[in-house]
Amino acid sequence: MPTDPDCVFCKIVAGEIPCHKLFEDEHVLAFLDVNPLSEGHALVIPKQHYATLDAVPADTAAAIGAALPALAHAVLNATDATDYNILQNNGAPAGQDVFHVHFHLIPRQPGTDRQDATPGHGLPARPWPAQKVDHEKAAALAERIRGAIGS
Ligand code: AMP
Ligand code: ZN
Repeated sequence: MPTDPDCVFCKIVAGEIPCHKLFEDEHVLAFLDVNPLSEGHALVIPKQHYATLDAVPADTAAAIGAALPALAHAVLNATDATDYNILQNNGAPAGQDVFHVHFHLIPRQPGTDRQDATPGHGLPARPWPAQKVDHEKAAALAERIRGAIGS
């Protein structure tokens, strides 16, 4: 099993650092984030150490994919939230701080505006710096990506 002795999430999986555990199966562990953006902010991680999502094998990815909706259902049932974000950062420039794959499940505090950035209210929504698509470039790019699938 790939593990990194210096990784905080590997230490949680090994029981060397405590966590508020929510769910566990063969491939996946879910626990509460220690610095929550809102009540119920949870992390879903593979038990094995992979730094970024593109390194995760299909069986583990499938287990994460099955755990996320079930956990979302449970968090909504156990809190007042009806809305939530799934956030997953890969690489330092993309905002990743812990280099062991993790999915954030971040409930949105009920009754809050989407751009409300008050601590405890969850992840504020857009604006993101979106651009207009260039369809010629997009067609060429899509072809390159299709050709790279499975490589
Ligand atoms: P990211 O910035 O996407 O890498 O997110 C890392 C997340 O891990 C942050 O939200 C941290 O609060 C959380 N975190 C770091 N250490 C722990 C820990 N020991 N237990 C629970 N969550 C943690
Ligand atoms: Zn790790």
